[in-house]
Amino acid sequence: MPELPEVEVTRLGLLRKLKNKKCTGAVVRETRFRKPLRADLEELLFNQTLQDIKRRGKYLIWLFDRSALVTHLGMSGSMRVYLQADVEVQKHDHLDLIFGDLIMRYHDPRRFGFVAYFPDKESAFAMPELQRLGVEPLSEDFNSKFFYGALRQTSLPIKTSLIRGDIVVGVGNIYCSESLFLAGIHPKTKSNRISKKRVSALTDAVKEVLQSSIELGGSTLRDFVSAEGQSGYYTLNNNVYGREGQPCKKCGTLIKKVQIDGRSTFYCPHCQH
Ligand SMILES: [Zn+2]
Repeated sequence: MPELPEVEVTRLGLLRKLKNKKCTGAVVRETRFRKPLRADLEELLFNQTLQDIKRRGKYLIWLFDRSALVTHLGMSGSMRVYLQADVEVQKHDHLDLIFGDLIMRYHDPRRFGFVAYFPDKESAFAMPELQRLGVEPLSEDFNSKFFYGALRQTSLPIKTSLIRGDIVVGVGNIYCSESLFLAGIHPKTKSNRISKKRVSALTDAVKEVLQSSIELGGSTLRDFVSAEGQSGYYTLNNNVYGREGQPCKKCGTLIKKVQIDGRSTFYCPHCQH
């Protein structure tokens, strides 16, 4: 499933190729998604310049001259830019947005993603799904003072508070395990029992894990125009995730796995408490 780092890498790649380009056409091959895709997208976007693409959580907000799109990659979606000369349509290539000789192609086998049209940017940003999101992990709003205050309000396990998305968005399952390891916090610790100092370490760890994943993703997608669909995660050097029964890289103790809210969570019983 595409996580925040992949969505951010997608955003950067799209912007690098398409910013300030005019939309000259659209080909809609499928309209049934989590939200229906407008079949008349070509008329709606024709001749409008793509001014910018913003991100909130795993949503991208595309800002055109007079309208906007909100897109989500769902479970299996990808968005890639191709030179029009190269394109052969594959199964599950549901939408092309055409920008002169470049094509943005949306591919989504499971169709849990969507591309939603809005007549202006205000209505796009007012979408209810965007209103419910917690703060951006890489923004200054996500700081130890804010995070400590939010965690005081709940006795849920810290793993749950991190992954729910109502305090901070985009910390997916792998990033939860990795951040908690870096901060030395056991994933089942009650959120309101963690000291200020340790919350501060966790805040830094979340930023570090996500930032390094984005950097790694950016480097793998250098040639974005012809990039193949990448799936999911860029953390190649996990400390704990997926390493059950293997020695901790810090202390040698064997890594353990527990289920929290039905999701696998990995930790070092010696380094995390
Ligand atoms: Zn350890």
